[in-house]
Order: sequence, then C-alpha cells, then structure tokens
Amino acid sequence: TDLAQGLRLRDDFPGLLDGKGGDWHYLDSAATAQKPTAVIDAIARAYGPDYATVHRGVYERSANMTLAYEAARRKVAGFIGAASDSEIVYVRGATEGINLVAQCWAGTQLKAGDRILLSTLEHHSNIVPWQIVAEKVGAQIDVVPLTQDGRIDLDAMRAMITPQHRMVALAHVSNVLGSVLDCRRAADIAHMVGAKILIDGCQAVPRLAVDVQALDCDFYVFSAHKLYGPTGIGVLWGRKELLDAMPPYQGGGSMIDKVTFEKTTYAPAPTRFEAGTPHIVGVVGLSAAIDYVQGIGLDAIHAHECAMVAKARSAISQINSVRVFGPEDSAGILSFEVEGVHPHDVGTILDETGVAIRAGHHCAQPLMRHLGVEATARASFGIYSDDSDVDALVKGIERVRKIFG
Ligand code: PMP
Repeated sequence: TDLAQGLRLRDDFPGLLDGKGGDWHYLDSAATAQKPTAVIDAIARAYGPDYATVHRGVYERSANMTLAYEAARRKVAGFIGAASDSEIVYVRGATEGINLVAQCWAGTQLKAGDRILLSTLEHHSNIVPWQIVAEKVGAQIDVVPLTQDGRIDLDAMRAMITPQHRMVALAHVSNVLGSVLDCRRAADIAHMVGAKILIDGCQAVPRLAVDVQALDCDFYVFSAHKLYGPTGIGVLWGRKELLDAMPPYQGGGSMIDKVTFEKTTYAPAPTRFEAGTPHIVGVVGLSAAIDYVQGIGLDAIHAHECAMVAKARSAISQINSVRVFGPEDSAGILSFEVEGVHPHDVGTILDETGVAIRAGHHCAQPLMRHLGVEATARASFGIYSDDSDVDALVKGIERVRKIFG
C-alpha cells in the first residue's frame, strides 16, 4: 500500500478524532480497535428500530432478529473457514472461549498425570484457565520456549512433546511481539502425539486471513472488539465432534432440550454453550465488522500493517538506546524499550504529543520475565494507521530521548 495514504479509511472511524480538532495517533489497536461508522450504525439500528430478542418471539421483529443472529453465525463460519456454522459458539470474548474449552473439554477429558503445553509468550488468558483446570484434575503444564527473535520455537516443541500431552494452547499472533505462529506445523506436532490444539487468534483474526481447516487446529478463539466490532462478544470455533462430546458450560435458558426436576437434557452444540439471552446486538455488530473488514480484504490489511511495522521498526531502532523486541516480520505490533526510561513515562510523554500507545506487561508477565523487563512500550497498528502515525511515534520517542538525556 501507499504508506503515506494508508488504506484511506480514517474518515470511517469517528474514534480517531481527538475531540479538540487535533490529530490523534491511535497506536493501541492490539488492546482494542476503533469502530467504523458501519459498525456503530449497525449497533444503533439493532438497539433501535430492529431491537427484539432472539429464539423466543413469535412476532415478526423477533423472528427477523433471530434470522440476523443466525445469519451472522454463518458469516463467522465463512470468515474463518469453518466446515459448519454449528461449530461457531458465541462467547463474551477470547477469554471466555478459552475458559469454556479448559473447563468443558480439558476439565472432563484430562486426568492426573496428563500434561498441557503452552508457550512463554502466552497472554494470561491462555495461561490461567489451564492452570485452574490443571489444578483441578492434577495435570501438569509445560512451556515451549521462544526462539532468539521471539517466535514460539516449534523445533523445541517437537522435541519436548510426549503422549502425556493432551492439550496444546498457543497464540497465533503474539500481542506483545507480533510474531506469527506457523499454526499448521504446530497442529501437526500436537496431532503427532494425539493432543488437541487450541489457537488463541485474538491478534491474528484482525490481521491475517484465517482458515481453521487449513490450519488444522481443533479449537480457535477470538474477540470481536479487536476486529473493529463491539466489546462483550467473541467466537469459539471447535471441531463438531469435539463440541458435540462436551458438557454444557453454564446452565440456564436456551441451552436445554427438556427440563424436569428429575432430569434435564441439553440442546446440541452450539446452542448448548449459549445459556441465557445472548449478546444479540453484539452479534449484529460483529457481523457488520466482518463485512467491513472483508470489504478491504485481510491480505491488503496484513500487507499494510506489516509495512507500517517495518517502517516503524527501522526508524525507531535508529534512535539512540532504543531497543525493539520481536521478529522482523511481526504482524502489526511492535514492542520497544527506551533504555533507562520506564515505559509508563514513555507512554505519558507520547500522550502529550497526541500518540496513544500501551505501556505495561500486556497481560504477559512470563514473557516480560523472559525478556528481562518489567514492562514494554507497545505500538500496534490497525487498518486506519498511516504514515503520519509512524512519524508521530518516532518524533515522540525522540522527544522522550531528549527529555531524559
Ligand atoms: N489473547 C491475546 C493474544 C490477546 O491479545 C487478548 C487481549 N489482549 C486476549 C487473549 C484476551 O482477549 P479478551 O480480553 O478480549 O477476552
């Protein structure tokens, strides 16, 4: 893409205005993405003239909303290459998706002595749910190390995996380093010993084309709010035979077949996992977000974000005593450290110049420990990012350097 112009989408995003007539450089899309007007309008319509519940109403408005809700499920399935829309479970977000698999699959399948394989760079939401279930069933957790440049080391994974490993859970794209996993190879290694593999696709789905069947994983999760959609809604994809064999996650309305005090039977997947009135409007917003992103194309988005990161990486690494983390080909995310300056101070000074980055441990404390830092500064790009954002970031870091000498 023409970096100076970006993808020319800024006008679609009211959240990119700073409200004071100035430029705002939003470089925190990995935390959550700004929303295009198309998504905001779809949400407003869904809460306004289209609003009604799903699955229960006999009146036309509810029937229409149910159609929209289920059409969105088919859209999601197509978007990630699922074999069937019955493999798509609506959840609150990636966090809930992982907890659901940890409790309903691992919690019922694993026994004492079984092992779970994670990696050093995982987000806390792909660590803690496994620790909770491991403690419950007496399983052990092992950790795949990283390569020098910050990728999950699949050679090491191959060497350490055993038939005791029943579940492997890895991030498709690191939320700190932007490193991209070769999911297919990771899946092949997991399947070699008969383990299942869950991929945390939170940072991948907004940044690259995902086809869960080509990746050959068993579960895949992501959150809508990083995909330019609303908060509070996300997706768990699971292979049909796995979902069919899993017990319910929560009990309540909608997830049942028949309820009596003697015995209750459950609806088939995915309904079995969607207890209670769902996030109807969230689903509508997610659907609009997928339309928006598909209108641009994931390949164009990926190329654009890689170009942004490459430019930022080369400019930032030329500034005195600034260290960048992660591989050269990281996808849309760049962590860095200004030596001798706390990342929070870097973030605060950048904020004064209208540049919004994230500073902290990014919910990846084990990775921070591995990098030998307490925190990093992180710039992350989105479909609306352009050259002016990179320039403002570089200028801001130069200012940090000046202030701190
Ligand atoms: N995994 C990764 C890699 C993430 O970046 C995030 C969000 N920071 C999550 C999981 C959790 O997503 P959510 O908070 O939307 O459930």
